This record gives sequence, C-alpha cells and structure tokens, in this order.
Amino acid sequence: MIKFLDLQKINAKYNDELKKAASDVIDSGWFLMGKKLNNFENELASYTGAAHAIGVANGLDALRLIIRGYIELGIMKEGDEIIVPANTYIASILAITDNRLKPIFVEPDPLTFNIDIKDLESRITVNTKAIMIVHLYGQVCWNENLKGITTKYNLKVIEDNAQAIGASWKGIKTGNLGDAAGFSFYPGKNLGALGDAGAVTTNDNELAGIIRSLANYGSSKKYVNQFQGLNSRLDEIQAAFLTVKLNHIDQENDYRKKIANYYLESIKNDKIVLPTAPQAEEHVWHLFVIRTKYRDKLKEFLQEKGIETLIHYPIPPHKQECYRAFEELSLPITEEIHNEVLSLPISPVLNMDEVETVVSFINQF
Ligand SMILES: *Cc1c(COP(=O)(O)O)cnc(C)c1O
Repeated sequence: MIKFLDLQKINAKYNDELKKAASDVIDSGWFLMGKKLNNFENELASYTGAAHAIGVANGLDALRLIIRGYIELGIMKEGDEIIVPANTYIASILAITDNRLKPIFVEPDPLTFNIDIKDLESRITVNTKAIMIVHLYGQVCWNENLKGITTKYNLKVIEDNAQAIGASWKGIKTGNLGDAAGFSFYPGKNLGALGDAGAVTTNDNELAGIIRSLANYGSSKKYVNQFQGLNSRLDEIQAAFLTVKLNHIDQENDYRKKIANYYLESIKNDKIVLPTAPQAEEHVWHLFVIRTKYRDKLKEFLQEKGIETLIHYPIPPHKQECYRAFEELSLPITEEIHNEVLSLPISPVLNMDEVETVVSFINQF
C-alpha cells in the first residue's frame, strides 16, 4: 500500500529531537508564551526574512487575525471587499466572511491553479481593500503584473501561505512578498506541528503589535484589554516541535521537488494534464495535482493497485452549504477543476521506488 501521506514516518525521522523537545517543555513547567515560542518566532522571521513572526493557534486564525488587525487599524471595515481565488481551500474564504468582509471570487488559471491575473483587474471596485493571494499546492502566486496592480489600486496583499513555506519569488520567500501572511502548521502541511498551529508574518510594526495583542485576548499587558480579542496562542510544546522541524524544511522541500520532477518527466498519458510550474525550482510541491476527465475512474484504478490518492478539493467554497449566498456565481473554470483534479502521493518519506510504481500504473491507465 502506497499511502498518500504517512505522518508517522514523517515524524519518526526526528523522533529523538522531538522527544527531547517535549521533555524540555514538560520539565520547564512553562507551557504558553515562553522561550520556545519566542525562539520559534525568531527563527521563522529570519527564515522568511520578515521583520515579525507571531505564533497563533492555527492557519485559519492567522488569516482571520490579519484582517481583524486591519479593521482595528481603520484600514478595512465591514462590507469591504477582498479579492480571492475561487478554487482555494475554504479557510481563505472563512477568514474574510468571519470578519464580515466580502470575498470577491476570481477564477484560477487552469494550468497553474493560481488566480488568473487577466480576470482580476476588472473585479476591483472602490470597496476593494486587499487581494488574498493563495500559493496553492505550494506554487508562488506573485509576479510583476500582480505587484503592479496592487500598487496601482493601493491594495493590501495578504498571503495565504498555508501550503508554501519555503517557496520563493526572485529570492524573496513567501511570507515576505505581501503586507502580511498567514501560515498553517497543520500536521499534513510541509512544516507540520504535532497538532494545530499557525503564524502570521509581516514587516508592518503596527499590525504586528495589534495581532499579537488580538491573539492574546486583546491584551498586551496582563489584565488590561485594549481590544475584544480572542484566545489564539501557539503552545510552547508545538513551538518546540516546529523549531526542530524548521531546521529540516529545505531538505524536505528539495526531496518533494525531486519527486515532482520525476512525475513531470515520466508521466506520459494523453488522458492526463500535468500541472504547469513556470518557476519549478521555486515551487515547494505541497501537493502534486493532475487533471483528467476520468478522475473518478483513475482514482479507483489506483486504489485497486494499492495507491492512495486524494482530491483537493471536491467542492469549491461557493458551492458549499454554508455559502448558499454565493451558489449562483458563475465560476465554470473553478467548477471544472474541482471535477477533474487528483492529488498523487508526494512527501518527504515516499521512496523513489514507490514513485516509480505510481508512474507506471498511471501510464498504464
Ligand atoms: C490548511 C490551510 C489553511 C488553514 O490552516 P489550518 O491550520 O488548518 O487552520 C488555510 N488556507 C489554506 C490554503 C490551507 O491549505
């Protein structure tokens, strides 16, 4: 059986370091807002190049808190619009609607799966305050055109960097391309905690201060509450685990690239469209997503051969029950993508023999 993702194996590689990190925290008797968090935040800031990194409880909170921070700063308000790709994971959209702003869904480019810039400019109105770029599946969503548009219309750039830690554009890491970025360290992400965790990075001092406070009950001084905040903290134990794993992320991302390149070179089947990576070296391949009209048949075929695949994602956000208000939107490319995508196994512990097996069955299909 070739598993889609073997979390046990992924973490077993760092067994000794992780156990040592856990026992340090247990022995210290200090579980929140301590040295481990501080240390991880410094490491993450220096890894991305951003001035500030703030650990929070998860990736959704990271994105929610960025928008909430802009609301507290008076830069955004209820009813304002944020442009977002229609084919993203639902958390991107939830972060917007939870703050009572309006997501403006833009179609993706079906080759890269990232937001289609051609379509985007015509969707900007006087109420548009930001673009949320999503580096979907690990591929950077940024270029000179997009940068030009955000400057021209004075839009904030919020990066949903849940899937792309370590990716870069012209030597600048994701998380340091826009005005603020949300990271997820959900166990299955490229940098995965052993539970929930997330972070915000930004170069904006004021925004960083507000988010830090908002995530801790809206308080920067004990028992003094400046904002109606929430409790969204990153535990010491998770920060300690993440510090261990951050040291290995580049090596793991390189191995993902090796698998992706092998898939790109070796999968040869007319029924299948491979993903396009204009800057393949800068892609961190959180997921390797192919498209085919025969998606369900291929999934079943591979399952019979002992190969597990997943679909990211089966239902687009605007067709979810919780978003009935958006169900009439016309987003044909997004809907087609959701019917055709299939994610092949890719991970730092998949061996090249297994990758070869996947390729040979796909080529047989
Ligand atoms: C995983 C993910 C999130 C949310 O992260 P959590 O830590 O699960 O809250 C947000 N956006 C995208 C694109 C994701 O893949």
